[in-house]
Amino acid sequence: MSIVVYLGDAEETREWIGLLSRLMPDHEIRDFDDPGQLSAVEYAVVWAPPRGGIARFPNLKAVVSVGAGVDHVLRDPNLPKHLPILRTTGPDMVQRLREYVALHVLAHHRELATTDASQARGEWRQIVTPVAGRRRVGVMGLGNIARACARTLVDLGFDTAGWSRSGRQVDGVTVFAGADGLPAFLAQTEILVCLLPLTPETRDILDSRLFAQLPKGARLINAGRGGHLVEDDLLAALDSGRLGGATLDVFRTEPLPADHPFWGHPRIRITPHIASMIDAETGASVIAENIRCFERTGASDAVADPKRGY
Ligand code: NDP
Repeated sequence: MSIVVYLGDAEETREWIGLLSRLMPDHEIRDFDDPGQLSAVEYAVVWAPPRGGIARFPNLKAVVSVGAGVDHVLRDPNLPKHLPILRTTGPDMVQRLREYVALHVLAHHRELATTDASQARGEWRQIVTPVAGRRRVGVMGLGNIARACARTLVDLGFDTAGWSRSGRQVDGVTVFAGADGLPAFLAQTEILVCLLPLTPETRDILDSRLFAQLPKGARLINAGRGGHLVEDDLLAALDSGRLGGATLDVFRTEPLPADHPFWGHPRIRITPHIASMIDAETGASVIAENIRCFERTGASDAVADPKRGY
């Protein structure tokens, strides 16, 4: 029985094949594009697999997403509907995102971009910012990773709110739920952090209508998915002063094209989808453990719900 791997990049795929072969010696680990006997393939470990690729394997038991999001798997119209999809998450990924969110919320809170610009001009400019308890930060999505990020913001002293579908409570966080709760959540959010999964309901959610509900000059941090953001609406909101700045980790097209207007924009900080880039060794061991658990029990906490899209 075999496991196939697809990461889009041949060298990376080879590295993961090597790691998984060592961790799972009882399985044959092969390249998705050179799978051998199709009927022998039981798991496909993938990031953004080509459309129709998964459906080639008639005896697949599950698809394993190399990442917490499963949008890159579900976008395949030929994906067999019955297949479980295992997400890859865990303490390593959560910790990395906590660091990312703390870093960039603090950078906006303490006006780091303005201080950097002053330094570049050789200008001594002291800015007094409110203390964290008087800064209102809002986290969109309160999932496994986002809850930990919201808690980190609470621990840093921020006045922290969160928004999710169900409104599940998080200690120390003011929680808003569903479409009805969104306007009140936005009205009080000075730094907005998007950690939603990309689903048909959340696609394009970061648009001009949403920006208009934030306090003027609010900041945006998007570490969810590029498909959440309407790019032209962001540019217009920054140019009009409706938003004061944005930090973007994810983009509609990745890598971000060289001529994209975001690159040179003075109020946009770009990070190249590294908010929680898991190292291959850790990722492979989490995946091996998730597959073993799924083999043993036929279930796993890591299984996404394809109907919900996350
Ligand atoms: P989960 O999948 O555990 O949970 C998703 C959260 O979003 C839940 O709180 C859910 O609400 C909420 N949600 C889903 N749909 C809606 C909606 N329509 N309206 C309001 N709330 C909604 O998420 P994680 O925290 O594990 O991860 C979130 C996302 O972060 C991933 O899907 C991925 O896109 C992104 N990510 C980005 C990384 C990066 O490096 N940039 C790395 C890892 C993840 P409820 O609680 O009610 O179900």
